[in-house]
Amino acid sequence: MSFLEYAPAPESRAVLSLKPEYGLFIDGDFRSGSGESFATISPADEKHIATIASASDADVDAAVGAARRAFDKTWSKMSGRDRGKYLFRIARLVQERARELAVAESLDNGKPIKESRDVDVPLVAAWFFYYAGWADKLDYAGLGADPKPLGVAGQVIPWNFPLLMLAWKIAPALAAGNTVVIKPAETTPLSALIFAEILQQADLPPGVVNIVTGAGPTGAAIVRHPDVDKVAFTGSTGVGREIAKSVAGTDKKLTLELGGKAANIVFEDAPIDQAIEGIVNGIFFNQGHVCCAGSRLLVQESVHDEVVDRLKTRLSTLRLGDPLDKNTDIGAINSREQLERIRELSRIGEEEGAERWSADCVIPDNGFWFAPTIFTNVQASHRIARDEIFGPVLSVLTFRTPAEAIEKANNTPYGLSAGIWTDKGSRILAVADRLRAGVVWANTFNRFDPSSPFGGYKESGYGREGGRHGLAAYLKGARA
Ligand code: ADP
Repeated sequence: MSFLEYAPAPESRAVLSLKPEYGLFIDGDFRSGSGESFATISPADEKHIATIASASDADVDAAVGAARRAFDKTWSKMSGRDRGKYLFRIARLVQERARELAVAESLDNGKPIKESRDVDVPLVAAWFFYYAGWADKLDYAGLGADPKPLGVAGQVIPWNFPLLMLAWKIAPALAAGNTVVIKPAETTPLSALIFAEILQQADLPPGVVNIVTGAGPTGAAIVRHPDVDKVAFTGSTGVGREIAKSVAGTDKKLTLELGGKAANIVFEDAPIDQAIEGIVNGIFFNQGHVCCAGSRLLVQESVHDEVVDRLKTRLSTLRLGDPLDKNTDIGAINSREQLERIRELSRIGEEEGAERWSADCVIPDNGFWFAPTIFTNVQASHRIARDEIFGPVLSVLTFRTPAEAIEKANNTPYGLSAGIWTDKGSRILAVADRLRAGVVWANTFNRFDPSSPFGGYKESGYGREGGRHGLAAYLKGARA
């Protein structure tokens, strides 16, 4: 089969005016960090982008101090209407600087520009607009009369959706009247630092949001700081467990959004063409670096061969390469470490007897890349059916009856999301009702909206982000 070749269509980097070095954003200004600075690189070619400060315990203490002062003196005293004005202003500035943010995100993270441009950044603006609207309506959120903020929120986020996770954390916290110390992931600090410039442009009072860069120890320093009232974490289940231990026995509030191993269930009556697109979007969107990715395809036995054949044909048309090229479907894996993990689990999948198929794409010489891959003949006991791979790897299992599909879908330590593909509305409702997953998509996948709560069961964590529920995590005594 031959396809039309696409000429390169790179998005211009000229829109970015990066500094060679970035400090910590504390109390409204950038300052140098006392930890050892580190480089952030582009995962697509391993080239240096900028030097980033690392926050020591003392720097984290300064950030928490600034957040506390801002909470006591300005932010908790301000009316909800005025807080809302700042959030609306931030949302508008994100829109104004959308191209720059999208280019920075794709450069630093490796995700295709069409995703950062059309999904991540618009959702970031949407999140701020949405929570801006709540800031003066907290009394009507059904979370108690005159609900009060918690105080200083310490937030630690991962590298897969750097700016979007920042928005998920900061927007509800500020709307509810809290102040923030947030740490982006060490491989993707860039968009958060540009966001800090946006906060300056928005004239947000100093100390309301503090952005400290660094690796795990900086995150741990935020989590254990005695003057932090609330910890919000998104990342791996292993680190989530450590954080839960560190917070146990204190009166800090905690929400955790951890891993997943979602089942995407395709019944034989499903519209197959749409299902194929949904499966591809479910696991190959953002190189599969998605905690709610549909990484386990459960397909009814009668349509298994057809679905797998069509999937392979579709995957053969995906274009892997330069994340800044507007035609790219599959970008770079975010780091060498993550690439190694994906390779290792795929190797184990082959050893355990599953059958591996990878799309035949040209892998660039430099950078971190992994071709879209499907494993068939996967058993529920295989590591590739149980462990979160967090990469462009799909494990295909089969089922005969709806009951078997539900049992297999729930046979996981996780419970973040699931998908159902069928023509029958009644089946969607019946199956969704029995899936132990925080979000269930029907005849679609990976759809996000700020008004819709998101979160997990079991080892996927606890608490909800988004919607009215997302406010509850930042208000005293509130239960969504
Ligand atoms: P991932 O698998 O997505 O890399 P991690 O859980 O390792 O997820 O990282 C998510 C975030 O947690 C990152 O910002 C990372 O720096 C931070 N982090 C790592 N270890 C710790 C820790 N012990 N305490 C707090 N934060 C941590």
